[in-house]
Amino acid sequence: MAGNDNIVLSVRNLTKTYRTAGEQVSVLRGVNLDVAAGERVALTGESGSGKSTLLHLIAGLDAADGGEIRIAGAAVTDLSDTGRAALRRDRIGLVFQQFNLVPSLSVEANLSFQSRIAGRHDAVWHAELVERLGLGGLLKRYPEQLSGGQQQRVAIGRALAARPLLLLADEPTGNLDETTADGVLALARDLVAHTGCGLLMVTHSARLAATLDRQVTLHTGLVR
Ligand code: ADP
Ligand code: MG
Repeated sequence: MAGNDNIVLSVRNLTKTYRTAGEQVSVLRGVNLDVAAGERVALTGESGSGKSTLLHLIAGLDAADGGEIRIAGAAVTDLSDTGRAALRRDRIGLVFQQFNLVPSLSVEANLSFQSRIAGRHDAVWHAELVERLGLGGLLKRYPEQLSGGQQQRVAIGRALAARPLLLLADEPTGNLDETTADGVLALARDLVAHTGCGLLMVTHSARLAATLDRQVTLHTGLVR
């Protein structure tokens, strides 16, 4: 079906229950969600509604109980651990609230080490990312010498360095003040539009969610 060529993420009937001593929590109870190439989708929902769980399953960081996740047609849910790691490395970019940069590496090295490991380093694209994210003057610095907004710009660059098909962001602006958050998100929105990857971004902020193309909400284990 020609119309489906454009879908980078397809989630069908996804279920996940956490089982701890004496307790079962059914967090995802049949989630369905599509993200198209170039589409920027906001995922909202109360604290504890399962937003991070959903992103972890899509990224292959944890396994679902049932249902299916496809990234560009490949079923993540069918892959081995090694296959999921390769998919994550080559096809998915991840950005978290805690910027998660490597403290011992310069900005330059933080930007490129993952794409180098993936064998997907592209010097021209790297230079363009540095330019678009305004990181030119910061390349020799270390993460501790950066502001929060600067650190998150580096994390976005790192996530996009290997030209992923899908960018997953879990409250990426949660540690930033409003003005800085607006600036960082504007850069991310433009970069996603420029690269044509899909974006699925968890946010608490209705204001920020409204700046993306579409909003979905996770509630009682379902996405609406
Ligand atoms: P959100 O990101 O929307 O705040 P989470 O996905 O982090 O929600 O968590 C959803 C629910 O699952 C919460 O009730 C949380 O306590 C529970 N949960 C998350 N991770 C685990 C885990 N590893 N083991 C047991 N329960 C978990
Ligand atoms: Mg969360």
